Amino acid sequence: MRYCWLCGGPETSADPMDTHHIFGGSNRKKSERMGLTVDLHHNKCHIFGKKAVHNCAETMQALHEYGQRLAMENMGWDKDTFRREFGKNYL
Ligand SMILES: [Zn+2]
Ligand SMILES: [Zn+2]
Repeated sequence: MRYCWLCGGPETSADPMDTHHIFGGSNRKKSERMGLTVDLHHNKCHIFGKKAVHNCAETMQALHEYGQRLAMENMGWDKDTFRREFGKNYL
């Protein structure tokens, strides 16, 4: 069972899960390789909902912070190393 990063709920047939890359654009491949992806309900939490990642700057920022912490922890990086790798410090 897949659970949503944003609302914590399980996948439903009405709103299936998408895999969202925490860092997109030129960092998308790196996100994929480092496992920096999350599951999100396609409608409510990924694209269309009021708090959906692609619809709400606050949620996007929270997810970037989460992703940076995760990357730093997994890789043993500090903030400067993260900035070098991903082009920005989100914390
Ligand atoms: Zn959700
Ligand atoms: Zn996405």
